[in-house]
Amino acid sequence: GRRGKYLLVGLDDGQELVVHPGMTGMLRIANDDASEAPDPYVRAAWQLDDGVLEYRDVRRFGRIAVVPKGEYASMPTLAAQGPEPFDDAFAPDPFWRALRASSVHVKTQLLSQRPVAGVGNIYADEALWLAGVHPAARKVTRPQAARLHDAIRQVLAQGIDNGGTTLRDYRDFTGGSGENQHALSCYGRDDQPCLRCATPLRRTVIGARGTTYCPGCQRLR
Ligand code: ZN
Repeated sequence: GRRGKYLLVGLDDGQELVVHPGMTGMLRIANDDASEAPDPYVRAAWQLDDGVLEYRDVRRFGRIAVVPKGEYASMPTLAAQGPEPFDDAFAPDPFWRALRASSVHVKTQLLSQRPVAGVGNIYADEALWLAGVHPAARKVTRPQAARLHDAIRQVLAQGIDNGGTTLRDYRDFTGGSGENQHALSCYGRDDQPCLRCATPLRRTVIGARGTTYCPGCQRLR
């Protein structure tokens, strides 16, 4: 299973294995070629009935835990996840009310995983650009929230269709790269013309995260 960016694996004894891959983590089936040198970045391995599942993580920002099923008190970010982006519970008005409940920057709210689960730095910049919402906005209007809701679904659906965004690290289960890095409209396009209004995109830092936005069509009210 999955909740936001957490992978949830039910175990035979009723417990749950929780894996958050962080920036560079991935699960894969072990290469059983004994002639190859051991991979120093494999941090954990599980013996399965028909092979070995490995967790590989170069930078070690990931997390692994075993918890009683559904008990996430030791993992506060997981415990506080908002609705899944493609569930009916993620709807424009509840999303607007969730955003209004806090006065931190809208981008920081998205990255908190509380208004909606699963939106990271790339998809936050993409969705805010698509919706025409300034990433540092502290008050989002109802129409802006509705546009942002639709934009989040659109950029995540596109990312999934394209197999993920591989700027450097992301690999799928088979070790393959995604293709979504070729379809980004905003993220990583600092100083290049906005695809909507041709204003050069600007890079700034919001909530300690690099952020790209269009000063022409993502205005602070
Ligand atoms: Zn623009």
